[in-house]
Amino acid sequence: MRMDRVLKRVESMAGEAVEFLRKLTSIPTINPPGANYRPCAEFLGEQLRDFGYDVEFIAPEPERVNVIGRMGTARPTLHFNGHIDVVPAGHGWTVDPFCGVVRDGKIFGRGTTDQKAGIAASIFAIEAIRREGVRLHGSIEQSGTVDEESGGFAGMAYLAEQGYVSRGRTDFVVITEPLNVDRICLGHRGVYWFEVKTLGRIAHGSMPFLGVNAIGKMSDFIGEIEHKLKPALGRRITAMPVEPPEARHPCININSISGGQPGTIQTQCVVDHCEAILDRRFILEEPFEEVRGEIAEILDSMARRDPEFQYELRDLMIVQPVLASADSNLVATLGGAVRDVLGTNPPLIASPGTYDQKHVMRLGHVDQCVAYGPGILHMAHQPDEYCRIDHLVDAAKVMALAAMRLCGI
Ligand SMILES: [Zn+2]
Repeated sequence: MRMDRVLKRVESMAGEAVEFLRKLTSIPTINPPGANYRPCAEFLGEQLRDFGYDVEFIAPEPERVNVIGRMGTARPTLHFNGHIDVVPAGHGWTVDPFCGVVRDGKIFGRGTTDQKAGIAASIFAIEAIRREGVRLHGSIEQSGTVDEESGGFAGMAYLAEQGYVSRGRTDFVVITEPLNVDRICLGHRGVYWFEVKTLGRIAHGSMPFLGVNAIGKMSDFIGEIEHKLKPALGRRITAMPVEPPEARHPCININSISGGQPGTIQTQCVVDHCEAILDRRFILEEPFEEVRGEIAEILDSMARRDPEFQYELRDLMIVQPVLASADSNLVATLGGAVRDVLGTNPPLIASPGTYDQKHVMRLGHVDQCVAYGPGILHMAHQPDEYCRIDHLVDAAKVMALAAMRLCGI
């Protein structure tokens, strides 16, 4: 009965949640570079304070401000986390990306789906419980963190390292990323970003036989990637339930390549250096040392075959893959809540990309961590990004039910 009342209360608070999300969206927390984190964290902190939380701001750097709200101290502790940064708006919008336009049952704006609607959902889910006068035995934490779109190092990674989100104090973590309102995400693949530089020898452009062209050497390397590594990766497959299924194969993407004369300025030179940045996504079955070793071996064997092939390999970012157990209390409870609210059995999936779950599990050592939130995955980072209001409300209901069952009432 009390749970039914709370779900009704979530529905009656929809207008308030939409208004909150509109305000949150109108703070352009664009990353890069990471703008307006402080006003956004302060806005969130104020809302949390109004809703009965003790609020703390945690800033590893002056303008990289995270916020945590805490309600209660008893265990278990259920922690909801959402990132406050959004990617740049980009082109192709038909509405102002930072106005929070509401139309046709949708809230439009950069970051609505990814993932300010998730922040709104978890805050209003718990507020509905409080307004119904239902007391939770455990405690609730809500955090808004920075820099997820650029690796989360000053955000969730910092919170996990410093013990704010850690096994010693946190039992369950729900990251409110948009993976569709009827699915639960158990984890994500790994990322290896790296730079390869090929080194040539400068010479007069009219006598290229006196030099070594670094772009030519880079194209040899790219050839190895395209024609040998890519097919090999396509033959590997993970047992992780990654969606879409094409992403169950590991993959590699050439992000950029640069070398030679700048623009249209003619230089009569043989190019002596060329840089490429590559993005390798790997699966749980591939240890990182092997992923990196495979690239190093391709470069090494090219150098053995071709004495003029000189290169440098530099790591840019390493993200380990993670996958939470499907048999946990958290997954069972969230799954039950999705069934009760939506009437469907939620598929358990894994993300082809990455998000802050790695920090919670690998640095904070909290095993029961998943992603669940409103918003449609393929809307993330698109022009005219929106979140449906019914998804926002449904996700809040699922979170409210799960919170009552996990914490006890
Ligand atoms: Zn996100």
